[in-house]
Amino acid sequence: MSVMMVRKKVTRKWEKLPGKNTFCCDGRVMMARQKGIFYLTLILILGTCSLFFAFECRYLAVQLSPAIPVFAALLFLFSMATLLRTSFSDPGVIPRALPDEAAFIEMEIEAANGNVPQGQRPPPRIKNVQINNQIVKLKYCYTCKIFRPPRASHCSICDNCVERFDHHCPWVGNCVGKRNYRYFFLFILSLSLLTIYIFTFNIVYVALSESGLSICSLLLNPSFTVLEVFICFFTLWSVVGLTGFHTFLVSLNQTTNEDVNIKRICLFLFLLTGYIWFYLFTYRTLLPLTNM
Ligand SMILES: [Zn+2]
Ligand SMILES: [Zn+2]
Repeated sequence: MSVMMVRKKVTRKWEKLPGKNTFCCDGRVMMARQKGIFYLTLILILGTCSLFFAFECRYLAVQLSPAIPVFAALLFLFSMATLLRTSFSDPGVIPRALPDEAAFIEMEIEAANGNVPQGQRPPPRIKNVQINNQIVKLKYCYTCKIFRPPRASHCSICDNCVERFDHHCPWVGNCVGKRNYRYFFLFILSLSLLTIYIFTFNIVYVALSESGLSICSLLLNPSFTVLEVFICFFTLWSVVGLTGFHTFLVSLNQTTNEDVNIKRICLFLFLLTGYIWFYLFTYRTLLPLTNM
């Protein structure tokens, strides 16, 4: 008698997510589909650090202290760990409504809005809920067919609603949201320290080098040190600036998305005020001229 083993296919939760994400390692790794800039981040970090360990670190370990490569290695490992954790983890994707749930929500909205006459625009889909004795407006996502929780937003690149959405970062190849923001912040913080560290010790290397290297001779005879200084110099401005910006946002308990929205509103108010002043000025100066 033969025993037939029938294996039931188990559908995992991540397999049901219809967004534009890629998964591997049985759903443990989750990323956006566009990963080109993430590979560039890896190449820049791995390339610069490999050159630093291969050339300057060997010389500085002998001349100054063996602690220099040890600290560099610790910073490098920490940066890579936080980068991979940010890139590979779920940023806080909110599952879309199932067909039954979507139909029920649609029915609720129609009941609340009543029959909208043809040719008239239906009112915006907003739901008021009470959180901590405060009325909070929840916006409806037409793609995910859900009322988004407060501070969530829809990422157009990943096509998902993300909890406490900060921004979509192509450099890490993923959204930055509630579940991976701390790793993203630690990544940019450690990368800033690593960049400053490599940049400083490259300058020390040039100053100490027995071959009498000067900045002019280095520029005339390009070497790996010049390449590293060049990469670190440009990374410094962007990454250190970004770390400062996110430290400011953390202190205000704000996300990049909210900050951008506030700036948009400020810009709109600024332009509106300017327009009103311009209108009043032209009205008061040109009107008497036309009556003459
Ligand atoms: Zn959505
Ligand atoms: Zn995204």
